[in-house]
Amino acid sequence: MKGELAHPFINNSIFMIPNIDNSELHEECGVFGVYGVKDAANLAYYGLHALQHRGQEGCGIVRVDNREFKRIKGEGLVTEVFNEKNLVGMQGDMSIGHVRYATAGGGGIENVQPFLFRHNTGNFALAHNGNLVNSKELAKYLEDRGSLFQSTSDSELLAHLIKKERDDRDRIYPIIDALNMIEGAFAFLIMTASKIYACRDKYGLRPLSIGKLNGGYVVSSETCALDVVGAEFIRDVEPGEIVVIDREGLKSVDYSKFKHHYMCAMEYVYFARPDSDIENTNVHAYRKESGRILYQESPADADIVIGVPDSSLSAAMGYSEASGIPYELGLTKNKYVGRTFIQPSQELREKGVRMKLSAVRSIVKGKRVVMIDDSIVRGTTSRRIVSLLREAGATEVHVRIASPPFAHPCFYGVDTATYEELISSQQNVEQLCNTIGADSLSFLSEEALYKAGKRKELCTACFSGKYPTALYSSLHDANKDGKF
Ligand code: SF4
Repeated sequence: MKGELAHPFINNSIFMIPNIDNSELHEECGVFGVYGVKDAANLAYYGLHALQHRGQEGCGIVRVDNREFKRIKGEGLVTEVFNEKNLVGMQGDMSIGHVRYATAGGGGIENVQPFLFRHNTGNFALAHNGNLVNSKELAKYLEDRGSLFQSTSDSELLAHLIKKERDDRDRIYPIIDALNMIEGAFAFLIMTASKIYACRDKYGLRPLSIGKLNGGYVVSSETCALDVVGAEFIRDVEPGEIVVIDREGLKSVDYSKFKHHYMCAMEYVYFARPDSDIENTNVHAYRKESGRILYQESPADADIVIGVPDSSLSAAMGYSEASGIPYELGLTKNKYVGRTFIQPSQELREKGVRMKLSAVRSIVKGKRVVMIDDSIVRGTTSRRIVSLLREAGATEVHVRIASPPFAHPCFYGVDTATYEELISSQQNVEQLCNTIGADSLSFLSEEALYKAGKRKELCTACFSGKYPTALYSSLHDANKDGKF
């Protein structure tokens, strides 16, 4: 391992966000890989389907058969891009796949992953979940040395860094060097003709788990996809680690001695499926515990507890158990509409909320309701839901949020826009309570996020503004109104 701390793009301190203005929207994606299992591309199809909640705008699979690479990718859902016909030609016992939620680098087919690189020293494919914070600096560094990029995605940078110069060493060394040049959040899968390299950032921001299946291995952003394909969980890829998977099994290589477990708190709060375990904590159990703590911190006098489906139901159960207030199904969701949080414009979000949720009149009519939600980002959804409940006859609506105020943008791959669009950066709790039209409003404390998962470390930057990495120039628009 060389140059880990000496490289100019590396910085390991905890940072408060500086006075910088500009943020692109970022992505939240999922990766899935299969090594040494027959029909690996078919398995990847099922795996990606289980990870569909992490990105619905595009997906792809690359497989290797007798050292030959073949890729299918397209815009849309897994079930739209793949079918029995096109998967027939995808035999082979190695594959990697990706589901994408666009915006870091924009949409378009050229940004749909996995990327496939043909090179005289050997072809390879690459899939990435997360977001790099020094991508502009690296793109300039590489372009100055002659690199030409196929896409506008920051994920492509890693491939160029690996291949930036002629290198006769074993492939693991250029990968180690390249990983030490990138900064930010990542779970990378790199597939060559004979190996898969599963790499996780040294801050531990994004999850990546390994399972065993029929003598081979499966790697996934979430354990729910391991269960779906019948794989048995073995372990997580550790922060700062590369797990090399080949004929000899698993081999662990540390690319960094700096290692932390700043897992994204929003994976527990909102993103991950409740049947996934992240770093040994089940997501449903975490949410339920956060609901219990939320009651201890912010009790409410009410007749029923309801949760906003789906990601808030576990926290609502916890709140109900701790308070003794009955848990009810006060809201139902049309499952065939995409997640409000990741729809691209304000206008669509407004429409999306209406299409997506309905209040159950016979349950909420005449009741004092405690409504549990996982987070408030722009405020639009909460305002609409409170009004739905009142229209359905609720006499009081007390809103309890199972996370702290979301007041700072995320630069690690989550679409959270700019300071201007984050309502908690513009309004205090009392003002926000008025804006959403609730009778009362409280948020979970930051301390409770650690307590709910019995964790010592966690990324809570979107609540606290304390970012675990340096931020470089990836955030120029985050401060449009000059408030911070
Ligand atoms: S800033 Fe927030 S959303 Fe982004 S990685 Fe950290 S906890 Fe997750």
